Amino acid sequence: MNLVFDPWLTVRWRDGGVRTVRPAEIADPEALDLVAPRADFRGALFQFLLGLLQTAFPAEDEDEWLERWETPPSVEYLEKAFSAWAPYFFLQADGPAFLQDTKPGADFAAKDVRELLMDLGSVSNLHFNKPDGIKGLCSVCSATALYTIQANAPSGGSGHRVSMRGGGPLTSLLVPQADKGQAATLWQRLWLNVLSQEIMRQPGGRFDGQAAKDILPWLVATRSSEKKDGQTTPDHAHALQAYWGMPRRIRLDWENTVAGRCDLCGKTSETLLSRYRTRKHGVSYLGWQHPLTPYYHDPNKEDPPSAVKGQSGGISYRHWLGLTLGSNDKQPEAALVVRHFLKERWGKLGKDFRALVWAFGYQVDKGGMKALSWSDSTLPTYHVAPTQQEALALEVGRLLEVAQEAAKLLHRAVKSAWADRPGDLKDEPAIGQSFWSGTEPLFYGALEALTQTTGLEGPALLATQRQWLTGIRKTSLDLFDDWVTGEYEKDWDIERTVKARVELEKWLSRAKPMNALWKSIKQQEASV
Ligand SMILES: [Zn+2]
Repeated sequence: MNLVFDPWLTVRWRDGGVRTVRPAEIADPEALDLVAPRADFRGALFQFLLGLLQTAFPAEDEDEWLERWETPPSVEYLEKAFSAWAPYFFLQADGPAFLQDTKPGADFAAKDVRELLMDLGSVSNLHFNKPDGIKGLCSVCSATALYTIQANAPSGGSGHRVSMRGGGPLTSLLVPQADKGQAATLWQRLWLNVLSQEIMRQPGGRFDGQAAKDILPWLVATRSSEKKDGQTTPDHAHALQAYWGMPRRIRLDWENTVAGRCDLCGKTSETLLSRYRTRKHGVSYLGWQHPLTPYYHDPNKEDPPSAVKGQSGGISYRHWLGLTLGSNDKQPEAALVVRHFLKERWGKLGKDFRALVWAFGYQVDKGGMKALSWSDSTLPTYHVAPTQQEALALEVGRLLEVAQEAAKLLHRAVKSAWADRPGDLKDEPAIGQSFWSGTEPLFYGALEALTQTTGLEGPALLATQRQWLTGIRKTSLDLFDDWVTGEYEKDWDIERTVKARVELEKWLSRAKPMNALWKSIKQQEASV
Protein backbone atom coordinates (compact mmCIF):
# COMPACT_ATOMS: atom_id res chain seq x y z
CA MET A 1 0.00 0.00 0.00
CA ASN A 2 1.17 3.50 -0.79
CA LEU A 3 -0.06 6.12 1.67
CA VAL A 4 -0.01 8.90 -0.91
CA PHE A 5 -1.63 7.51 -4.03
CA ASP A 6 -3.78 4.62 -2.75
CA PRO A 7 -7.29 5.23 -1.41
CA TRP A 8 -7.15 4.44 2.33
CA LEU A 9 -8.66 7.37 4.24
CA THR A 10 -12.26 7.06 5.37
CA VAL A 11 -14.01 10.37 4.88
CA ARG A 12 -17.50 11.59 5.69
CA TRP A 13 -19.07 13.33 2.72
CA ARG A 14 -21.48 16.27 2.68
CA ASP A 15 -24.35 14.01 1.59
CA GLY A 16 -23.80 11.96 4.77
CA GLY A 17 -22.10 9.09 2.94
CA VAL A 18 -18.73 7.67 3.87
CA ARG A 19 -16.08 6.92 1.24
CA THR A 20 -12.52 5.65 1.19
CA VAL A 21 -10.35 8.14 -0.66
CA ARG A 22 -6.80 9.04 -1.66
CA PRO A 23 -5.09 11.73 0.44
CA ALA A 24 -5.36 14.31 -2.38
CA GLU A 25 -9.15 14.05 -2.19
CA ILE A 26 -9.07 15.99 1.09
CA ALA A 27 -9.28 19.01 -1.24
CA ASP A 28 -12.69 17.93 -2.56
CA PRO A 29 -15.20 20.56 -1.36
CA GLU A 30 -17.71 17.78 -0.60
CA ALA A 31 -15.35 16.09 1.90
CA LEU A 32 -16.18 17.09 5.47
CA ASP A 33 -14.36 15.01 8.07
CA LEU A 34 -12.18 11.99 8.81
CA VAL A 35 -13.67 8.84 10.24
CA ALA A 36 -11.62 6.30 12.22
CA PRO A 37 -12.38 3.17 14.23
CA ARG A 38 -10.71 4.63 17.35
CA ALA A 39 -10.34 8.13 18.84
CA ASP A 40 -6.53 7.95 18.95
CA PHE A 41 -6.48 6.88 15.30
CA ARG A 42 -8.55 9.89 14.30
CA GLY A 43 -6.08 12.21 16.01
CA ALA A 44 -3.20 10.39 14.31
CA LEU A 45 -4.78 10.63 10.85
CA PHE A 46 -5.20 14.39 11.23
CA GLN A 47 -1.54 14.69 12.17
CA PHE A 48 -0.45 12.45 9.30
CA LEU A 49 -2.29 14.67 6.81
CA LEU A 50 -0.98 17.85 8.41
CA GLY A 51 2.53 16.44 8.10
CA LEU A 52 1.91 15.59 4.47
CA LEU A 53 0.58 19.07 3.71
CA GLN A 54 3.45 20.76 5.57
CA THR A 55 5.95 18.60 3.72
CA ALA A 56 4.57 18.27 0.21
CA PHE A 57 2.33 21.31 -0.21
CA PRO A 58 3.82 24.04 1.97
CA ALA A 59 2.68 27.64 1.71
CA GLU A 60 5.72 29.87 1.37
CA ASP A 61 4.27 32.72 3.42
CA GLU A 62 1.05 33.79 5.12
CA ASP A 63 -0.31 35.41 1.95
CA GLU A 64 -0.05 32.14 0.11
CA TRP A 65 -1.60 30.37 3.09
CA LEU A 66 -4.59 32.73 2.92
CA GLU A 67 -4.98 32.27 -0.85
CA ARG A 68 -5.25 28.52 -0.35
CA TRP A 69 -7.67 28.99 2.52
CA GLU A 70 -9.94 31.09 0.32
CA THR A 71 -9.42 29.03 -2.84
CA PRO A 72 -8.48 25.43 -2.02
CA PRO A 73 -6.44 23.59 -4.66
CA SER A 74 -8.15 21.13 -6.98
CA VAL A 75 -7.75 17.45 -6.20
CA GLU A 76 -5.60 17.09 -9.35
CA TYR A 77 -3.33 19.95 -8.35
CA LEU A 78 -2.82 18.56 -4.86
CA GLU A 79 -2.25 15.08 -6.25
CA LYS A 80 0.56 16.46 -8.37
CA ALA A 81 2.22 18.14 -5.39
CA PHE A 82 1.90 14.98 -3.29
CA SER A 83 3.17 12.66 -6.04
CA ALA A 84 6.76 13.88 -5.74
CA TRP A 85 6.74 12.43 -2.21
CA ALA A 86 4.81 9.25 -2.97
CA PRO A 87 7.93 7.07 -3.44
CA TYR A 88 8.72 7.51 0.27
CA PHE A 89 5.31 6.44 1.50
CA PHE A 90 5.12 2.72 0.82
CA LEU A 91 4.01 0.79 3.88
CA GLN A 92 5.61 -2.38 2.52
CA ALA A 93 8.82 -2.22 0.51
CA ASP A 94 12.16 -3.90 0.05
CA GLY A 95 13.91 -0.65 0.84
CA PRO A 96 12.71 2.25 3.00
CA ALA A 97 9.14 1.82 4.28
CA PHE A 98 6.90 4.38 6.00
CA LEU A 99 7.93 5.10 9.63
CA GLN A 100 9.96 1.88 9.80
CA ASP A 101 13.56 0.98 10.31
CA THR A 102 15.54 0.62 7.07
CA LYS A 103 17.65 -2.36 8.01
CA PRO A 104 16.15 -4.63 10.63
CA GLY A 105 18.94 -6.93 11.78
CA ALA A 106 18.93 -10.26 13.57
CA ASP A 107 18.73 -8.34 16.86
CA PHE A 108 15.14 -7.32 16.11
CA ALA A 109 12.66 -9.26 18.26
CA ALA A 110 9.31 -10.47 16.93
CA LYS A 111 6.26 -8.96 18.64
CA ASP A 112 2.57 -9.57 18.48
CA VAL A 113 0.82 -6.90 16.38
CA ARG A 114 -1.36 -5.98 19.40
CA GLU A 115 1.66 -4.31 20.93
CA LEU A 116 1.49 -1.62 18.29
CA LEU A 117 -1.61 -0.31 20.06
CA MET A 118 -0.92 2.37 22.67
CA ASP A 119 -3.54 1.15 25.13
CA LEU A 120 -2.32 -2.43 25.29
CA GLY A 121 -1.76 -3.37 28.90
CA SER A 122 -4.01 -0.62 30.20
CA VAL A 123 -6.95 -1.47 32.39
CA SER A 124 -8.96 0.23 29.69
CA ASN A 125 -11.09 3.04 30.85
CA LEU A 126 -10.22 4.11 27.35
CA HIS A 127 -13.31 2.97 25.54
CA PHE A 128 -11.40 1.80 22.53
CA ASN A 129 -12.46 -1.23 20.59
CA LYS A 130 -9.84 -3.57 21.87
CA PRO A 131 -10.91 -7.14 21.33
CA ASP A 132 -9.00 -9.53 23.59
CA GLY A 133 -7.58 -11.81 21.00
CA ILE A 134 -6.38 -9.50 18.26
CA LYS A 135 -5.10 -11.76 15.52
CA GLY A 136 -4.52 -9.42 12.67
CA LEU A 137 -4.66 -5.82 11.49
CA CYS A 138 -5.27 -4.65 7.95
CA SER A 139 -2.74 -2.41 6.21
CA VAL A 140 -4.73 0.74 6.95
CA CYS A 141 -5.03 0.03 10.69
CA SER A 142 -1.36 -1.02 10.82
CA ALA A 143 -0.24 2.23 9.18
CA THR A 144 -2.42 4.26 11.54
CA ALA A 145 -1.25 2.33 14.61
CA LEU A 146 2.33 2.89 13.49
CA TYR A 147 1.82 6.65 13.22
CA THR A 148 -0.02 6.69 16.57
CA ILE A 149 2.74 4.94 18.49
CA GLN A 150 5.57 6.90 16.87
CA ALA A 151 3.80 10.18 17.69
CA ASN A 152 2.83 9.28 21.29
CA ALA A 153 5.22 6.53 22.39
CA PRO A 154 5.45 5.85 26.12
CA SER A 155 8.84 4.74 27.39
CA GLY A 156 8.03 1.03 27.40
CA GLY A 157 11.08 0.25 29.52
CA SER A 158 14.77 0.99 29.35
CA GLY A 159 16.08 1.85 25.88
CA HIS A 160 12.59 2.18 24.38
CA ARG A 161 12.44 5.83 23.42
CA VAL A 162 9.52 8.14 24.06
CA SER A 163 7.99 10.24 21.30
CA MET A 164 9.56 13.52 20.25
CA ARG A 165 7.13 15.20 22.68
CA GLY A 166 7.64 12.68 25.51
CA GLY A 167 5.28 9.87 26.52
CA GLY A 168 1.62 10.66 25.88
CA PRO A 169 1.78 14.29 24.72
CA LEU A 170 -1.28 16.46 24.35
CA THR A 171 -2.02 17.59 20.80
CA SER A 172 -4.12 20.70 20.19
CA LEU A 173 -5.72 21.46 16.84
CA LEU A 174 -8.08 24.18 15.69
CA VAL A 175 -11.52 23.14 14.50
CA PRO A 176 -13.30 25.68 12.28
CA GLN A 177 -17.01 26.00 13.00
CA ALA A 178 -19.87 26.11 10.52
CA ASP A 179 -20.00 29.41 8.68
CA LYS A 180 -23.44 30.83 7.76
CA GLY A 181 -24.93 27.38 8.17
CA GLN A 182 -22.27 25.76 5.97
CA ALA A 183 -20.36 22.97 7.68
CA ALA A 184 -16.58 23.37 7.58
CA THR A 185 -14.90 21.25 4.92
CA LEU A 186 -12.17 18.74 5.57
CA TRP A 187 -9.81 21.05 3.71
CA GLN A 188 -10.60 23.85 6.16
CA ARG A 189 -10.23 21.53 9.16
CA LEU A 190 -6.75 20.67 7.98
CA TRP A 191 -5.51 23.89 6.38
CA LEU A 192 -6.32 25.95 9.49
CA ASN A 193 -3.66 23.85 11.25
CA VAL A 194 -1.00 24.18 8.56
CA LEU A 195 1.71 26.77 9.16
CA SER A 196 3.41 28.64 6.37
CA GLN A 197 7.15 28.14 6.01
CA GLU A 198 7.84 31.63 7.33
CA ILE A 199 6.15 30.65 10.62
CA MET A 200 7.59 27.13 10.77
CA ARG A 201 11.07 28.62 10.53
CA GLN A 202 10.61 30.60 13.74
CA PRO A 203 11.15 28.11 16.58
CA GLY A 204 14.87 28.03 15.83
CA GLY A 205 15.09 24.64 14.18
CA ARG A 206 16.79 23.88 10.89
CA PHE A 207 14.83 24.68 7.78
CA ASP A 208 17.31 24.36 4.96
CA GLY A 209 15.58 23.22 1.78
CA GLN A 210 13.24 20.27 1.54
CA ALA A 211 15.67 17.34 1.42
CA ALA A 212 13.49 14.28 1.92
CA LYS A 213 16.10 12.29 3.84
CA ASP A 214 16.45 15.10 6.35
CA ILE A 215 12.69 15.25 6.93
CA LEU A 216 11.68 11.59 6.76
CA PRO A 217 13.92 9.58 9.12
CA TRP A 218 13.11 6.20 7.53
CA LEU A 219 14.94 7.08 4.33
CA VAL A 220 18.32 6.77 6.01
CA ALA A 221 19.94 4.52 8.60
CA THR A 222 18.33 5.18 11.99
CA ARG A 223 20.10 7.73 14.19
CA SER A 224 20.00 5.18 16.98
CA SER A 225 20.58 6.10 20.59
CA GLU A 226 22.68 3.39 22.28
CA LYS A 227 25.22 5.97 23.40
CA LYS A 228 24.47 8.43 26.14
CA ASP A 229 25.05 11.41 23.89
CA GLY A 230 23.21 9.81 20.97
CA GLN A 231 20.38 12.29 21.03
CA THR A 232 18.82 13.98 18.03
CA THR A 233 18.39 17.70 18.57
CA PRO A 234 16.83 20.25 16.20
CA ASP A 235 20.34 20.77 14.78
CA HIS A 236 20.46 17.19 13.53
CA ALA A 237 17.35 17.13 11.38
CA HIS A 238 14.92 19.30 9.45
CA ALA A 239 12.24 21.08 11.51
CA LEU A 240 9.53 19.16 9.63
CA GLN A 241 10.72 15.92 11.19
CA ALA A 242 8.47 17.01 14.06
CA TYR A 243 5.60 15.46 12.05
CA TRP A 244 7.51 12.26 11.25
CA GLY A 245 9.33 11.40 14.48
CA MET A 246 10.58 7.81 14.74
CA PRO A 247 11.49 7.00 18.36
CA ARG A 248 10.72 3.31 17.87
CA ARG A 249 12.66 0.99 15.60
CA ILE A 250 9.91 -1.08 14.03
CA ARG A 251 9.59 -3.18 10.89
CA LEU A 252 6.23 -4.67 9.95
CA ASP A 253 6.49 -8.38 9.25
CA TRP A 254 4.82 -9.20 5.94
CA GLU A 255 6.05 -12.78 5.97
CA ASN A 256 3.70 -13.80 8.75
CA THR A 257 0.29 -12.59 7.63
CA VAL A 258 -3.11 -14.21 8.07
CA ALA A 259 -6.34 -14.05 6.10
CA GLY A 260 -9.53 -12.84 7.75
CA ARG A 261 -11.21 -9.78 9.19
CA CYS A 262 -9.22 -6.90 10.66
CA ASP A 263 -9.84 -6.89 14.41
CA LEU A 264 -10.19 -3.11 14.52
CA CYS A 265 -12.08 -2.00 11.41
CA GLY A 266 -13.65 -5.29 10.35
CA LYS A 267 -12.46 -5.22 6.74
CA THR A 268 -11.53 -8.54 5.15
CA SER A 269 -8.04 -9.03 3.82
CA GLU A 270 -5.84 -11.86 2.61
CA THR A 271 -2.83 -10.30 4.32
CA LEU A 272 -3.63 -9.18 7.84
CA LEU A 273 -0.52 -8.29 9.76
CA SER A 274 -0.01 -10.44 12.85
CA ARG A 275 3.54 -9.55 13.84
CA TYR A 276 6.17 -6.89 13.67
CA ARG A 277 9.84 -6.74 14.60
CA THR A 278 11.46 -4.22 16.87
CA ARG A 279 14.52 -3.36 18.89
CA LYS A 280 15.53 -0.71 21.42
CA HIS A 281 17.33 2.58 20.92
CA GLY A 282 15.35 4.35 18.24
CA VAL A 283 15.77 8.07 17.69
CA SER A 284 16.06 9.90 21.01
CA TYR A 285 14.78 13.43 20.45
CA LEU A 286 15.95 16.26 22.65
CA GLY A 287 14.94 19.91 22.70
CA TRP A 288 12.26 19.82 20.00
CA GLN A 289 9.09 21.87 20.09
CA HIS A 290 6.24 20.36 18.16
CA PRO A 291 4.01 23.01 16.52
CA LEU A 292 0.80 21.25 17.62
CA THR A 293 1.58 20.90 21.33
CA PRO A 294 1.73 23.33 24.29
CA TYR A 295 5.00 23.42 26.26
CA TYR A 296 6.10 24.30 29.77
CA HIS A 297 9.24 26.42 29.76
CA ASP A 298 11.84 26.23 32.48
CA PRO A 299 11.88 29.67 34.19
CA ASN A 300 15.65 29.30 34.63
CA LYS A 301 16.07 28.35 30.98
CA GLU A 302 18.23 25.39 31.93
CA ASP A 303 16.04 22.47 30.92
CA PRO A 304 14.55 22.16 27.45
CA PRO A 305 10.79 22.92 27.17
CA SER A 306 8.57 20.05 28.27
CA ALA A 307 5.42 19.11 26.35
CA VAL A 308 2.06 19.20 28.14
CA LYS A 309 0.85 15.60 28.49
CA GLY A 310 -2.54 13.91 28.48
CA GLN A 311 -4.45 14.79 31.65
CA SER A 312 -5.90 12.61 34.36
CA GLY A 313 -9.42 13.77 35.09
CA GLY A 314 -9.77 14.94 31.49
CA ILE A 315 -9.52 18.41 30.03
CA SER A 316 -11.68 21.18 31.41
CA TYR A 317 -11.73 24.95 31.66
CA ARG A 318 -8.77 24.79 34.02
CA HIS A 319 -6.70 24.08 30.91
CA TRP A 320 -8.33 26.82 28.85
CA LEU A 321 -5.61 29.43 29.30
CA GLY A 322 -2.71 27.07 28.62
CA LEU A 323 -4.35 25.66 25.51
CA THR A 324 -5.42 28.94 23.92
CA LEU A 325 -3.51 32.11 24.86
CA GLY A 326 -0.94 30.36 27.00
CA SER A 327 -0.08 31.89 30.36
CA ASN A 328 2.18 34.92 30.40
CA ASP A 329 4.90 33.03 32.25
CA LYS A 330 4.74 30.20 29.67
CA GLN A 331 3.38 27.68 32.20
CA PRO A 332 2.49 26.53 29.66
CA GLU A 333 2.91 28.34 26.37
CA ALA A 334 0.13 27.41 23.93
CA ALA A 335 0.90 25.36 20.80
CA LEU A 336 2.44 27.40 18.00
CA VAL A 337 -0.47 26.67 15.67
CA VAL A 338 -3.03 28.00 18.18
CA ARG A 339 -0.99 31.03 19.24
CA HIS A 340 -0.40 31.98 15.66
CA PHE A 341 -4.10 31.72 14.86
CA LEU A 342 -5.10 33.94 17.80
CA LYS A 343 -2.41 36.54 17.17
CA GLU A 344 -2.26 36.73 13.38
CA ARG A 345 -4.74 34.72 11.45
CA TRP A 346 -8.05 35.40 13.11
CA GLY A 347 -7.79 39.08 12.18
CA LYS A 348 -7.47 38.08 8.52
CA LEU A 349 -10.31 35.58 8.60
CA GLY A 350 -12.78 38.09 10.02
CA LYS A 351 -14.34 38.60 13.44
CA ASP A 352 -17.26 36.33 12.72
CA PHE A 353 -14.97 33.39 12.12
CA ARG A 354 -15.29 30.78 14.86
CA ALA A 355 -12.94 27.99 15.84
CA LEU A 356 -12.61 25.61 18.76
CA VAL A 357 -9.44 24.13 20.18
CA TRP A 358 -9.55 20.34 20.07
CA ALA A 359 -7.12 18.83 22.58
CA PHE A 360 -6.45 15.13 22.84
CA GLY A 361 -3.85 12.70 24.10
CA TYR A 362 -3.01 9.78 26.31
CA GLN A 363 -2.12 10.02 29.91
CA VAL A 364 0.59 7.41 30.47
CA ASP A 365 1.72 6.12 33.86
CA LYS A 366 4.82 7.50 35.57
CA GLY A 367 7.16 4.86 34.25
CA GLY A 368 5.46 5.52 30.94
CA MET A 369 4.91 1.85 30.20
CA LYS A 370 1.21 1.95 29.56
CA ALA A 371 -1.65 4.29 28.81
CA LEU A 372 -3.87 5.18 31.77
CA SER A 373 -6.53 7.23 30.08
CA TRP A 374 -7.39 9.16 26.95
CA SER A 375 -8.51 12.80 26.99
CA ASP A 376 -10.41 14.27 24.10
CA SER A 377 -12.16 17.64 24.47
CA THR A 378 -12.91 20.85 22.68
CA LEU A 379 -12.68 24.32 24.23
CA PRO A 380 -14.02 27.63 22.85
CA THR A 381 -11.85 30.52 21.66
CA TYR A 382 -12.65 34.23 21.92
CA HIS A 383 -11.73 36.98 19.53
CA VAL A 384 -9.49 39.45 21.35
CA ALA A 385 -7.19 42.03 19.79
CA PRO A 386 -3.56 40.82 19.95
CA THR A 387 -2.64 43.89 22.02
CA GLN A 388 -5.16 42.83 24.69
CA GLN A 389 -4.18 39.20 24.91
CA GLU A 390 -1.52 39.58 27.55
CA ALA A 391 -3.89 41.53 29.80
CA LEU A 392 -6.59 38.91 29.27
CA ALA A 393 -4.17 36.07 30.07
CA LEU A 394 -3.22 37.87 33.28
CA GLU A 395 -6.84 38.26 34.42
CA VAL A 396 -7.82 34.72 33.47
CA GLY A 397 -4.75 33.48 35.31
CA ARG A 398 -5.95 35.19 38.48
CA LEU A 399 -9.40 33.63 38.20
CA LEU A 400 -7.90 30.19 37.63
CA GLU A 401 -5.66 30.52 40.68
CA VAL A 402 -8.74 31.16 42.79
CA ALA A 403 -10.49 28.14 41.27
CA GLN A 404 -7.52 25.84 41.77
CA GLU A 405 -7.28 26.84 45.40
CA ALA A 406 -11.02 26.38 45.94
CA ALA A 407 -10.90 22.91 44.36
CA LYS A 408 -8.12 21.94 46.79
CA LEU A 409 -9.97 23.41 49.78
CA LEU A 410 -13.18 21.63 48.86
CA HIS A 411 -11.40 18.31 48.56
CA ARG A 412 -9.71 18.79 51.92
CA ALA A 413 -12.94 19.88 53.63
CA VAL A 414 -14.98 16.94 52.36
CA LYS A 415 -12.34 14.50 53.53
CA SER A 416 -12.22 16.23 56.93
CA ALA A 417 -15.97 15.82 57.21
CA TRP A 418 -15.76 12.16 56.25
CA ALA A 419 -13.24 10.96 58.80
CA ASP A 420 -11.39 11.83 61.99
CA ARG A 421 -8.16 11.05 60.21
CA PRO A 422 -8.73 12.44 56.73
CA GLY A 423 -5.08 11.85 55.86
CA ASP A 424 -5.81 8.11 55.91
CA LEU A 425 -8.49 8.46 53.23
CA LYS A 426 -7.57 8.07 49.60
CA ASP A 427 -7.97 11.11 47.37
CA GLU A 428 -11.37 11.24 45.70
CA PRO A 429 -10.87 12.63 42.15
CA ALA A 430 -14.63 12.91 41.68
CA ILE A 431 -14.73 15.83 44.16
CA GLY A 432 -12.39 17.86 41.97
CA GLN A 433 -14.31 16.86 38.86
CA SER A 434 -17.58 17.99 40.45
CA PHE A 435 -15.95 21.34 41.19
CA TRP A 436 -14.62 21.87 37.66
CA SER A 437 -17.86 20.92 35.98
CA GLY A 438 -19.97 22.77 38.59
CA THR A 439 -18.11 26.05 38.05
CA GLU A 440 -17.71 25.75 34.28
CA PRO A 441 -20.70 27.98 33.36
CA LEU A 442 -19.34 30.62 35.77
CA PHE A 443 -15.97 30.53 34.04
CA TYR A 444 -17.27 30.91 30.51
CA GLY A 445 -19.61 33.65 31.73
CA ALA A 446 -16.59 35.47 33.18
CA LEU A 447 -14.62 34.94 29.98
CA GLU A 448 -17.49 36.27 27.90
CA ALA A 449 -17.49 39.41 30.09
CA LEU A 450 -13.71 39.86 30.01
CA THR A 451 -13.62 39.66 26.21
CA GLN A 452 -16.17 42.46 25.73
CA THR A 453 -14.76 45.77 24.47
CA THR A 454 -14.25 47.29 27.91
CA GLY A 455 -14.23 44.00 29.80
CA LEU A 456 -10.68 44.41 31.04
CA GLU A 457 -11.20 47.91 32.37
CA GLY A 458 -12.35 49.48 35.66
CA PRO A 459 -15.91 48.77 36.70
CA ALA A 460 -16.56 45.90 34.28
CA LEU A 461 -13.43 44.07 35.39
CA LEU A 462 -14.21 44.60 39.07
CA ALA A 463 -17.74 43.28 38.59
CA THR A 464 -16.42 40.13 36.89
CA GLN A 465 -13.87 39.51 39.63
CA ARG A 466 -16.45 40.04 42.37
CA GLN A 467 -18.92 37.67 40.70
CA TRP A 468 -16.19 35.10 40.29
CA LEU A 469 -15.17 35.16 43.95
CA THR A 470 -18.73 34.97 45.25
CA GLY A 471 -19.74 32.38 42.65
CA ILE A 472 -16.78 30.12 43.43
CA ARG A 473 -17.49 30.45 47.12
CA LYS A 474 -21.17 29.61 46.79
CA THR A 475 -20.61 26.64 44.47
CA SER A 476 -17.86 25.25 46.69
CA LEU A 477 -20.12 25.35 49.75
CA ASP A 478 -23.05 23.85 47.84
CA LEU A 479 -20.82 21.05 46.59
CA PHE A 480 -19.53 20.47 50.10
CA ASP A 481 -23.10 20.00 51.32
CA ASP A 482 -23.79 17.59 48.47
CA TRP A 483 -20.71 15.52 49.18
CA VAL A 484 -21.19 15.18 52.92
CA THR A 485 -24.87 14.29 52.82
CA GLY A 486 -27.08 12.03 50.76
CA GLU A 487 -25.54 9.21 48.85
CA TYR A 488 -22.00 10.31 49.57
CA GLU A 489 -22.46 10.12 53.31
CA LYS A 490 -19.92 7.83 54.89
CA ASP A 491 -19.39 7.75 58.60
CA TRP A 492 -21.73 10.69 59.38
CA ASP A 493 -20.66 12.90 62.28
CA ILE A 494 -22.47 16.22 62.62
CA GLU A 495 -19.84 17.92 64.69
CA ARG A 496 -17.00 16.99 62.37
CA THR A 497 -19.05 18.11 59.37
CA VAL A 498 -19.92 21.50 60.84
CA LYS A 499 -16.30 22.07 61.77
CA ALA A 500 -15.10 21.20 58.29
CA ARG A 501 -17.67 23.54 56.74
CA VAL A 502 -16.65 26.44 58.96
CA GLU A 503 -13.02 25.91 58.00
CA LEU A 504 -13.94 25.78 54.33
CA GLU A 505 -15.92 29.02 54.60
CA LYS A 506 -13.02 30.71 56.26
CA TRP A 507 -10.38 29.65 53.78
CA LEU A 508 -12.54 30.38 50.76
CA SER A 509 -12.03 34.05 51.68
CA ARG A 510 -8.65 33.94 53.32
CA ALA A 511 -6.53 31.66 51.18
CA LYS A 512 -3.82 33.49 49.28
CA PRO A 513 -5.32 33.81 45.78
CA MET A 514 -8.77 34.82 47.12
CA ASN A 515 -7.32 37.25 49.59
CA ALA A 516 -5.13 38.84 46.93
CA LEU A 517 -8.03 39.30 44.51
CA TRP A 518 -10.34 40.75 47.19
CA LYS A 519 -7.60 43.14 48.21
CA SER A 520 -7.05 44.29 44.67
CA ILE A 521 -10.80 44.82 44.16
CA LYS A 522 -11.02 46.94 47.32
CA GLN A 523 -7.98 48.99 46.39
CA GLN A 524 -9.41 49.66 42.94
CA GLU A 525 -12.78 50.62 44.34
CA ALA A 526 -11.19 52.96 46.85
CA SER A 527 -9.22 54.71 44.13
CA VAL A 528 -12.30 55.37 41.93
ZN1 LIG B 1 -8.36 -2.43 9.80
